[in-house]
Amino acid sequence: MSSDIPAHILVATGNQHKIQEIAEILAPFAIDLRTPSDVGGLPAVIEDGETFADNAILKAESACRHSGLWALADDSGICARALGGAPGVYSARYAGEACDDVANNRKLAQALANHDDRHVEYVCVIALARPGKAPVTWEGRFAGRFVLDAVGDGGFGYDPHVFIDELGCTVAQMSAAEKHQRSHRGHALRQCAAWLAQHRDG
Ligand code: IMP
Repeated sequence: MSSDIPAHILVATGNQHKIQEIAEILAPFAIDLRTPSDVGGLPAVIEDGETFADNAILKAESACRHSGLWALADDSGICARALGGAPGVYSARYAGEACDDVANNRKLAQALANHDDRHVEYVCVIALARPGKAPVTWEGRFAGRFVLDAVGDGGFGYDPHVFIDELGCTVAQMSAAEKHQRSHRGHALRQCAAWLAQHRDG
């Protein structure tokens, strides 16, 4: 069977942290990535899906329609067990539409302050959209314990508050390579890379 994998794939996100992590995680797999700036920007997408998969597909299909390229999108967030999975798909705007990471972390720290159970799980769904074909998705998870005080300055988002007991540090104290090896994004993207390799080799 001949390969239908295109020469390059568009990463459909304007989040520079995600672009950097996706590029680092996929670096060993020789996948030629394009970013939104390479195609003159992408239209905004209303992320009104109920699940990470819904939103990842919305973003990937919008970018694919706009550019005509295969497009890969990441929808991700953090789910607190004591809060029934919140903030979940609302992680980026947990403290309001115009919020930032500090405000989001403050709100989650307040919400968990009176709970003994501070178990949290990052979830990432990667969607790949292809013109004229059904999208494909992969999911990765990364569990930790939310700590009320921020520690470390690596990573992004909720990382300074997510403590990994096994390593004795927060995600923001891990090297990029250590984070990618264990992270929700790393797990989802390595499944995506394996799927691409399988289809490339026929
Ligand atoms: P999205 O753009 O709707 O997928 O929003 C994802 C949000 O989830 C980000 O803005 C972060 O707040 C959070 N998030 C996702 N992945 C990570 C991660 O690896 N570290 C820290 N926060 C993350």
